[in-house]
Order: sequence, then C-alpha cells, then structure tokens
Amino acid sequence: MDDTLPLYPGHGTDSATIQKMNDVSPEMKPASAPSSLLTQTTLLLGPENGVTTCPFCQALVRTEIKHTTTTRTHTLSLLYCLICCCCCIPFCCDSAKNTDHYCPSCKKYLGTYEK
Ligand SMILES: [Zn+2]
Repeated sequence: MDDTLPLYPGHGTDSATIQKMNDVSPEMKPASAPSSLLTQTTLLLGPENGVTTCPFCQALVRTEIKHTTTTRTHTLSLLYCLICCCCCIPFCCDSAKNTDHYCPSCKKYLGTYEK
C-alpha cells in the first residue's frame, strides 16, 4: 500500500509557493524615489520671493517670481463680471494667480506656489 502513495505529497504546494513568491517579489523591491531635494524646495516656496538653495546650481539664491494667470483667474473674472461688472479685479489681484519661482543664477524653473 505504501508504494501507491505519492513520493512528493507536497509537490502541488511547492509550485503554489513558487507562484506566490513571484507575486511577492515585485513588492519587495525598494520604491525609494530620490525626491527629497524637490520636496525640500517645494516646502520653501511661497507667494513671495523666497531664499532657497537652488537644486540645479547649488547656490543660495532669492527666487525670481512670475505670476501666471490660471483658468481659475478667468473663471473669477467671469464671476466678478456677472456680479458687479468688475471683471478686471482678478487680473489686478495676485491672489488669484499662481507664483512661478525661478533661479536668478541659472534661470531654471524651481517650482510653483499655487493658491
Ligand atoms: Zn540655480
């Protein structure tokens, strides 16, 4: 009777284990993105010029800023126009615009402060 028993009763289990390991292995890979520099820079950006270390030229600089009108600026303009016919208000007010920061040394784009 013993001869009829399978020599490797766990054979099916082994292949299942290997399949499971293949499923797990992609998750085992470290997904560490070297984005610490970018995160640091973003934290320092504000609505006004800010002193920061440029990640491109490593210089301590005061950022140059440019205000950019966004879709929301035009939406606000339309809204003001409908309410009180003062459609120019959002374009005079920087609070409705995003602030782009640039490095004055290497002219690289550093980030955007969004309202
Ligand atoms: Zn720079």
